[in-house]
Amino acid sequence: MTDRFSLSPQAAEPRLDVARRALELLESVPGLAPRYAGRGGLRTLDDLAALPPLAKDDLNTALAHLEPRAEHGATWLFQSGGSTGAPKVGYAPTGFYMAGVHAHWQPLDRSDVFVNAWGAGRMWGAHFLVAALADLARCQVVALGSVTPDEYEDWLAFFVARKVTAIGGTPSVLRLWFARARAAGVKLPALRKVLWLGEAWQPQLDEDMAAVAPAARRWGMFGSTETWVVGTNTPDCPADTFHPLPEQLVHVGADDLLDFTTLNPDMLNPVLRYRTGDAGRLVDCPCGLPGRAMRVLGRRDSVVQVRGLGLHVGELIAQVEREPGVARAQVLITEQGGRALGVDVLLLTDQDGAVDVDRLRAELLSATFTLSTAFQHDPRSFRVRVVDALISNDRTGKTADFVVREES
Ligand SMILES: [Zn+2]
Repeated sequence: MTDRFSLSPQAAEPRLDVARRALELLESVPGLAPRYAGRGGLRTLDDLAALPPLAKDDLNTALAHLEPRAEHGATWLFQSGGSTGAPKVGYAPTGFYMAGVHAHWQPLDRSDVFVNAWGAGRMWGAHFLVAALADLARCQVVALGSVTPDEYEDWLAFFVARKVTAIGGTPSVLRLWFARARAAGVKLPALRKVLWLGEAWQPQLDEDMAAVAPAARRWGMFGSTETWVVGTNTPDCPADTFHPLPEQLVHVGADDLLDFTTLNPDMLNPVLRYRTGDAGRLVDCPCGLPGRAMRVLGRRDSVVQVRGLGLHVGELIAQVEREPGVARAQVLITEQGGRALGVDVLLLTDQDGAVDVDRLRAELLSATFTLSTAFQHDPRSFRVRVVDALISNDRTGKTADFVVREES
């Protein structure tokens, strides 16, 4: 079964001492001890594959007990998972393990003027992580963070004046920047690099980038606040395919679910078969880089239950976003006492986009078994509407494909 790992046994097994230490730490956590007790003897990749996978809540339980501290520099606390309530906390040392990333992936160099458009503050990690990469690249940095809707045009003029060569953000944030620039007729001829992390790439970005910054190419990172950066890609790789770093061991488990084990002795989070909820496959990347690459197939948890039926949110969104004039879509499920009262498809349209909402609604309803069956008796509870803004999570700064709202 070792072909389900990103590294060969010869490459990975001599470094499993880090995984053994993580196992000892997890065994010391009262809530997790029974699951890990007697699992010692972790020597081979087969031993590792036999360990139970670690879920986000388990890792949060472990971190609350372990409260790790960095050997050198500060220990930073970041938001780690959980969509409701108080933030759950993940830990990282200053530097955020980016030296290991920079050793294999150098999208930025000393000549770059880089706009860091990931939100800063609120215990978000990405802004600081990429700042650490810029530090290693020794480029100029514009630490912009998030802006309000009426600020885009002034900042875009500043980007032109400063001959900005690189920008980075979540694809949702980048979509706003490029859509705004395109609508305003702003060109960024000096922009060559678009760094992204935090969400899947959005194909609409390719179109807007071609219009606004024809020389710009995408450079992606894949990771989470728990694992930190797992893999990276280049403009020559498909947007959903990443090359794992040698200090990250990727495993494809049951149902194609990916899990991650750190081989980095400095990692503070005990990441041992940690599951992010993403499914994937190990593939050869067409870019030609040697070694196994990881193709991310999307989140297995993007199927939501609507009146007892599974609704494939990703498929629905993809179908809606193929519609001309639709810039981005989001599914809003309104529930009461756990039952879906209604489903809304929210549409963000292009500046000049006129979408035939009634026709789209009728097509979605007839083509989606879950919707036509669930709303057989009250079809008006399924709606498609154009909105000014999609619903973002204030805590994570991300715009998810679907949002569930409880109505009292
Ligand atoms: Zn590649």
